[in-house]
Amino acid sequence: MRQSAAVELSGVSKQYGNATALDGIDLTVEAGSVFGMIGPNGAGKTTTMRLLLDIIRPTAGSIRVLGIDPMNGGAELRRRIGYLPGELRLEGRVTGRSLLEHYARISGPVGPGAIDALAERLGVQLDRAVRTLSKGNKQKLGLVQAFMHRPPLLVLDEPTSGLDPLVQREFLAMVREAREAGQTVFLSSHVLSEIQQVADAVAIVRSGRIVTVSSVEGLRETAVRRVRVGFADTTPEAVGARLAGIRNLSDLAVTGTATGTGTEVRATVSGDIDPFVKAIASFAIVDLAIEEPDLEESVLKLYGVGGES
Ligand code: ATP
Repeated sequence: MRQSAAVELSGVSKQYGNATALDGIDLTVEAGSVFGMIGPNGAGKTTTMRLLLDIIRPTAGSIRVLGIDPMNGGAELRRRIGYLPGELRLEGRVTGRSLLEHYARISGPVGPGAIDALAERLGVQLDRAVRTLSKGNKQKLGLVQAFMHRPPLLVLDEPTSGLDPLVQREFLAMVREAREAGQTVFLSSHVLSEIQQVADAVAIVRSGRIVTVSSVEGLRETAVRRVRVGFADTTPEAVGARLAGIRNLSDLAVTGTATGTGTEVRATVSGDIDPFVKAIASFAIVDLAIEEPDLEESVLKLYGVGGES
């Protein structure tokens, strides 16, 4: 295991009877980074996170969390991880405050005022019985619980689900601050846009396999852009001939303008936009629109990631 890795999975598989939840996953999360796992329902995100916490055990492969195999880490390793489970169940008459104080006794030292400060940031009332809290407020309590003892590693399963946009923003700020403090954050989502602002690297998972691991910038570079260009004093034939050799163009439509003297081009560019820009540059351009890629849509399209099926 490399010193710099906070989490390392090598050839990890998980079978449930005949069903394969994870199929040979290799993954490295660098210490001090924010790593996102994105994929549709049933892709294997929750399974991966439970393996890190030793809630379940792998059928094959090896796992290291903060340098230790979770199977041998026991309570000591568990204390060094802040975990937000995907399906957080909070029931009973106990208040949020007493529940968090209970967790603080297990997880180890929580700084004075840390619970109240986090609760205030996220806007959660601590003195109500947890069973009376809405789904979003339960999620906030779960986040306070994960962050409050400043663990070296945070494992957060769909942390933004149920949070309104303002609270989501606060949560993303907490993640950035954690990274600045040297903590590692491993989080999952089925919505890329929610975590693209904070993740250093993103793994796209589908059907128990890693489809790709990339930086958000890298994903953006492979993204699909829609372009529209207006040319003056140019025939569709001339423009069409110039664009003919560009391999990453699709949905190409080259038409004459109503005035009869110009040409309009509409196309989809997959990935590198440079060949397209170079090809059109020799004509007189009167209009240019490049649609900012919807990263979510284009990434899922590129990697053929659909829903559970
Ligand atoms: P979601 O976004 O819906 O939570 P996920 O990516 O977290 O999805 P997992 O919960 O890890 O997906 O599930 C991966 C696969 O393993 C799914 O096909 C799921 O049905 C299956 N699975 C998970 N837990 C069990 C179990 N206890 N028994 C049988 N199959 C399971």
